[in-house]
Amino acid sequence: MRLSVAIVGSGPSGFYAAESLLSAFPDCEIDILERLPTPFGLVRFGVAPDHQSVKRVTEGYEKTVSSGRVHYYGNVEVGCDVTMAELRDCYDAVVLAVGAPRDRPIGIPGEDKRGILGSAAFVGWYNGHPDFANLHPNIDVERAIVVGNGNVALDIARILVLSPNELAATDIAEEAADAITRSKLREVIVLGRRGAAQARFTNPELRAFARLDRGIPCVEGDNLSEHTLEGLSEKPRRQAERNLETLRSFAELKEKTATRRITFRFFARPLEVLGGESVTGLRVAQTRLEGSRVVETGTQEDLSCGLVIKAIGYRSPRIPGIPFDAARGRLRNRDGRIAPGLYAVGWAKRGPSGVIGTNKADGKALAEQLRDDMKTQGKPGRKALEARLTARQVRWVTYRDWRLIDEAEIAAGQGDHPRRKFVSVADMLALLDRAQENTT
Ligand code: NAP
Repeated sequence: MRLSVAIVGSGPSGFYAAESLLSAFPDCEIDILERLPTPFGLVRFGVAPDHQSVKRVTEGYEKTVSSGRVHYYGNVEVGCDVTMAELRDCYDAVVLAVGAPRDRPIGIPGEDKRGILGSAAFVGWYNGHPDFANLHPNIDVERAIVVGNGNVALDIARILVLSPNELAATDIAEEAADAITRSKLREVIVLGRRGAAQARFTNPELRAFARLDRGIPCVEGDNLSEHTLEGLSEKPRRQAERNLETLRSFAELKEKTATRRITFRFFARPLEVLGGESVTGLRVAQTRLEGSRVVETGTQEDLSCGLVIKAIGYRSPRIPGIPFDAARGRLRNRDGRIAPGLYAVGWAKRGPSGVIGTNKADGKALAEQLRDDMKTQGKPGRKALEARLTARQVRWVTYRDWRLIDEAEIAAGQGDHPRRKFVSVADMLALLDRAQENTT
């Protein structure tokens, strides 16, 4: 009997799971289901549009599909086009690789004002995610504040200050490129509630600020000597030392024409978003560290700004019937196991941390678990899925269809743009309909 596995989600964790299962079970049948027509999840919609080399990991995912044993079902929403219970009936194992695409609330007054956005929405918008095509954020403001000291905060701050020339080599959504170019933005503040030594961003991402056409980084207050390395273990200490050195080196950078300043401000915790209907500022409390605890010093300050972006981490979606760990923002699981025949991998399993390659280990662990757990197999798999989708007239997108979308996007890229993304599902499906008409 051949093992049949459905993987829900086509981002890196889904593809690495498929890759590991292929080598562990040479005869298995794997189906990857994806809500959108396009595959690759975070690689397409999370990785920054100016980090094109990172996106080349999809070449490995192509190989997984070309094995012939992995089929792609795009434009299929689990919970809507097919239920989770049906999937579990159809397949020996169901693997949830749904990532962590939701914003976490920051939990301060004024969070619902116009002009405060989460990083999932904002990054989704500039990366052409169809869910955020109608976000239309107003970035024509003089000052924006990005809350958080992770790599996502750095991505957002950097993208906001890119020059037209730098934007030209990206696959950023057209609307976002226009808005960034036209904006009167003068300053982006990157706000950390702890010190520079505790920042989670990595050094190559920080150093990149020194190489921008018009973005010029600096540190508010220039009090880096107060940033203690105390309590850090070896690896974080090395990263912190490098980051401190880089932040110090920013003081030597020369002014540029049409400067957009990126100001790193540490030891400031957001207290309240200010303004009427729209954001006009952010009230922050000055903080200090007591051991690893962040405590307020009693000093507050109002920073004026027209845009606040929260880059404070993500959480997984809640799925009806699947236990959720609200504290950690991920699916409740025991080292990936959720229930018999039901597993989680990637950010859905671990929470939103690590880089793309971290997902490989989850794939390997999953293959071992399936080897232990799958005592009986022989559920109908793909045939049963297709029968259900056909009965419901679901227009699923195959991997071959995706290649047509991919080719059309690449062909539409002008100049140095590697591609121009479709930002509407209807437009993608219309392209596929036209292609089908031409071949019949
Ligand atoms: P992250 O690394 O966990 O950073 C989240 C940041 O938000 C931290 O600085 C955290 O501060 C801060 N924060 C959380 N709650 C807050 C609050 N209530 N108020 C103020 N600040 C708050 O998350 P991320 O930046 O979303 O990145 C997710 C993962 O993707 C990371 O593993 C990251 O390295 C990876 N990533 C990598 C790249 C790259 O390699 N180029 C690019 C993007 C993302 P505390 O530390 O004080 O909690």
